[in-house]
Amino acid sequence: MLQNKGAESARLECEMLLSHILGWQRHELYLRKDWILTEEQIQVFTDMLQRRLDGEPIQYITGTREFMGLPFFVDKRVLIPRWETELLTEYVLGVLRKKNQPAAVLDLGTGSGAIAVSLAVHFPRASITAVDIREDALQVARENAKRNEVLSCIDFYKGDLFSPLKPARYHEYFDAIVSNPPYIPTGEINGLMPEVREHEPASALDGGADGLFFYRRIADQAWRYLKEEGLIAVEIGYGQSSSVQELFLETGAYQGQEVHKDLAGIDRFLVFQKK
Ligand code: GLN
Repeated sequence: MLQNKGAESARLECEMLLSHILGWQRHELYLRKDWILTEEQIQVFTDMLQRRLDGEPIQYITGTREFMGLPFFVDKRVLIPRWETELLTEYVLGVLRKKNQPAAVLDLGTGSGAIAVSLAVHFPRASITAVDIREDALQVARENAKRNEVLSCIDFYKGDLFSPLKPARYHEYFDAIVSNPPYIPTGEINGLMPEVREHEPASALDGGADGLFFYRRIADQAWRYLKEEGLIAVEIGYGQSSSVQELFLETGAYQGQEVHKDLAGIDRFLVFQKK
């Protein structure tokens, strides 16, 4: 049925659903081939298959996504973390590890908490602040922090970018700010794959008329919250590299920008240092 729908990895997806239902590793399906499903399991499988046939992303159906080697819970309240974002996260992790000192890190638009939770797990000396404008996303992020046992390492705030961060406490506070903000131009949302367009939250995708709405605001404000020589690292969309670099550099508050490519050779994230 999935193949008829044009699914590229129909077999893999079925294996993911089945192993999820059975609580097995995928390879166990082959080791225990003669296992008989209960009526109830067959029903659950059929329901999940139907959701998949209706175009829902498989990660929402199983409620799981692996990111940075860690299990994350995801549902329609949050964007499904993308592999590209691991590059950004790895980079920040590398910087923190190299300095090997306690560090304060801010994740703007944390969504599922993918970046914040991964940094907290992989660099226990970091104290993380995670902000999202949506309470429902923060619930998912908190759940992921709990699942990965780093709830006490992360302060969660609900609000629009920097707005929930009290100046008295947070001005010049962070060693690093990281963000994978919504960056799709509003007019291009309709052209996205239906799987994304119809199931992932528009608020996690929509970057305003030119897609740069959040970069503009982050560039204008981030420096106030960074320590001297602190880093800001942002993921960017296809074709946005030079515009976003300009936005940051024309503020006069940053220097030493780095452009990092993804495995397809596309500029994928930018790093600046506070002057
Ligand atoms: N920070 C989250 C992630 O990278 C959410 C990003 C978003 O919703 N735009 O997956």
